[in-house]
Amino acid sequence: MAAIKNTEFQALPYAYNALEPFIDALTVEIHYSRHHKAYFDNVQNAVKGTETENLDFISLFKNISKYPAAVRNNGGGYINHVLYWENMKANGGGTPSGALAEAIDKTFGSFEAFKTQFSDAGKTRFGSGWAWLSVDAEGKLFVSSTPNQDNPYMDVAEKQGTPILGMDVWEHAYYLKYQNKRPDYVEAFFSLINWDVVSKRYQEALS
Ligand code: MN
Repeated sequence: MAAIKNTEFQALPYAYNALEPFIDALTVEIHYSRHHKAYFDNVQNAVKGTETENLDFISLFKNISKYPAAVRNNGGGYINHVLYWENMKANGGGTPSGALAEAIDKTFGSFEAFKTQFSDAGKTRFGSGWAWLSVDAEGKLFVSSTPNQDNPYMDVAEKQGTPILGMDVWEHAYYLKYQNKRPDYVEAFFSLINWDVVSKRYQEALS
């Protein structure tokens, strides 16, 4: 993953309205151009002139407990949103295929059982945070949830691994359309998942 210094703020991989009707255009615009951009700007400022400036993000996250909260919150905020935008698309959803589909069946019993576990991780995260599907050091899949802008790369995460699917459950991700109905947003998220991207990340995590 990219070095921190001189990293460019990625373009959104689709138009603001591409995720309609599941996530409305105004939510995507505010989320990307203000929230995500602020995390990016703030992490650049937080590392400037410090020992973390020349690290790549993954190395940073693996030792995040040693660094200031501003680096943890904004570095996580920046990368988590990169993963989130990439793992959605217009006309997404459905189910994965190939090796990832087999691993999901083997680990969780079925795709539906995985969906329930992942959805519950998002729905039951108190306050702000994320739900994740990740690959652990043994190459096994697991579902987890992290608070705030933490992620499974971080040494502070309850269970560590390589995230391959991330779902933002901060209110800013859904409040305009869904208000307090987070479960409705979680259900809608499944109609947007880009399983090709998730499968590619799965293969990369194993290699
Ligand atoms: Mn967000």
